[in-house]
Order: sequence, then structure tokens, then C-alpha cells
Amino acid sequence: RTKLEGRNGFHFFEKDMDGQTLVKRGLENDLRGAQKRDEFEIHYQPQFDIATGALVGAEALLRWKHPDHGYISPAEFIPIAETTGLMVSIGRWAFHKACHDFATLPPNLGLAINLSPVQFRRDDIPALVSGALAASGLPSHRLEIEITESLLMERDAGTLDALNSLKAMGVDIALDDFGTGYSSLSYLHSFPFDKIKIDRSFVKEADTNNDCAAILQAMAALATALKLTTVAEGIETEQQLARVKALGYHRAQGFLLARPQPIDALAALTQARPFNRLTGVR
Ligand code: C2E
Ligand code: MG
Ligand code: MG
Ligand code: MG
Repeated sequence: RTKLEGRNGFHFFEKDMDGQTLVKRGLENDLRGAQKRDEFEIHYQPQFDIATGALVGAEALLRWKHPDHGYISPAEFIPIAETTGLMVSIGRWAFHKACHDFATLPPNLGLAINLSPVQFRRDDIPALVSGALAASGLPSHRLEIEITESLLMERDAGTLDALNSLKAMGVDIALDDFGTGYSSLSYLHSFPFDKIKIDRSFVKEADTNNDCAAILQAMAALATALKLTTVAEGIETEQQLARVKALGYHRAQGFLLARPQPIDALAALTQARPFNRLTGVR
């Protein structure tokens, strides 16, 4: 804290600000220069086909390597980036970097990239996507965009146009963190989704809460009826993996299976023999 205060000149006002605000103000200033200082990285969290155990792709997750504080979670800095106007530029960098990285991996592996509502509002998403695909040489069918229900709640015609343009390019659309927003089931048929990612809170709660287990089951049934691919996120235990497999989920992602990791580690993983935790087959 002392270092942050000194560097940013906040020490004088410390009595009037709570620590939280001080740290936030410090990070905000640091975030402004982070891209220029090349402090962002992308880590990739593998996704597996539950039935076969095969590695099928990965989700790109932004990381900020702060010179003093080490890795800072996107949950912490993305909201700051969004309110300070930095998100468009950081998001563009991340998108290009991830496509570029993935173009070097085996062609059966898909890449999922998160886009925030702020990016849809402030940036030309179809242009960003087509530009990054062209520059990297990554085929559009290997790319998938993850959006959340908060984007759909805005009920903006421009958003639907952008999603339809992405689909026309051959890019898949995944609904992320499903069930955590003000879920309206009508979203599921009024937007062109290919996948839904059930939020990890349902996976976790299902261990101890029968209602959550029922919701997890109903979501799988609903998605299957709509011919959507289902991804279970946040799988941390064998029990959770067995549960989502029994419920018919198609794909799994979580710390039990693999952590988010740098592209070189992911590339090494693609060389490894497939490992099926459920069958024990290597
Ligand atoms: P998300 O898209 O829902 O990403 C999944 C988050 O869950 C990641 O957190 C991941 O590290 C974490 N996770 C994965 N498996 C497990 C598990 O088994 N247990 C637990 N407890 N957590 C698990 P992360 O990397 O901190 O990212 C947080 C959020 O930040 C993401 O949530 C996404 O909404 C956003 N984000 C990350 N990268 C980007 C990006 O490049 N652009 C945009 N717009 N948003 C991003
Ligand atoms: Mg995501
Ligand atoms: Mg998610
Ligand atoms: Mg999330």
C-alpha cells in the first residue's frame, strides 16, 4: 500500500478514502499503462469431451501480470477497464492474441473467447472478429464467442445484428454463466446460440442442495431438447464430473481437469495421450 500511495500521490488524501478505494484508484492508474508495458497475458483453460475424455478446445482467459502485485484476476480488473474506457483496447489485444496463438495448435481444437457487453456497445465486434481471423489465419469454425445474459437484457437490435453476423461468418455463440443472470428462457430461442455453459455455482451447489441438482438436470434436458451443446464449468471433484456425465452434459471444464495455462503448456498437452478420468483409459 505504501508503494501504491507514494507512486500515485494518494497519501495526502488517505484519511478521506477507505482502503478499497485507494487500491482501486491505484490499480486504475496502473491499468492505463499496462497494455503499453506489455503486462497482459492470455491463459487457456482446456475443455474436454465428457464421453471420450478428448481435449476439444480451450477458453481464453485474460491475465494481468502486475509488476508489484503479481497476477490480478480479470474479475478484479475487467470492471475497472469497462468503466475507464480501456476495455475496447484490451479486448482487441486479447482477441488478436488468442486467435494468433490458436492458429498454431492442431486444427481439431476450438477456441472460446469472452466478450463483455461493453465491447459490444463500444466496439465493432463483427469487424474485430473478421479482422482477427484474417490476420491470424484461424478458420472461423474453430472460434466461439462467449456472452452473458446481461448483454441480452439490453435488448439492443445492434447486438442481435452483431451476433447474426458472427454466425454468418461461421463463428459459434455460447451463452456463458447460464442461470446466474435474470434468466429468461425466451433468450434461448430468440438468439442464435450453439452452446450453453451452465454456471459453476449450480455444479457446486448440486453436491449439497437437491434443488440445485434438479436445476442442473432440467437445464441439461432443456438444452438437449433445443439441440444445444452443453458445457459444465467449474468441475472441481470426481463426484461433480460423474454427476454432469450422468446428466448428459457434453463438455466439462474445471480445475479437476485442467487449470488455465500459458499457450506453450496447452500445446504440450495436445501432444499428450488422451486421458479419460471416467474410464481410466490413457
Ligand atoms: P468466465 O468466462 O465464466 O470464466 C471462467 C472462470 O472460472 C475463470 O476465471 C476460470 O479461471 C474460473 N474457473 C475455471 N474452472 C474453475 C473451477 O474448477 N473452480 C473455480 N472456482 N473457478 C474455475 P477468471 O479467469 O478469473 O475469469 C473471470 C471472468 O473474467 C471470466 O468468467 C470472464 O467473464 C472474464 N474474462 C476473462 N477473460 C476475459 C477476456 O479476455 N475478455 C472479457 N471480456 N472477459 C474476460
Ligand atoms: Mg467464459
Ligand atoms: Mg463462465
Ligand atoms: Mg463468469
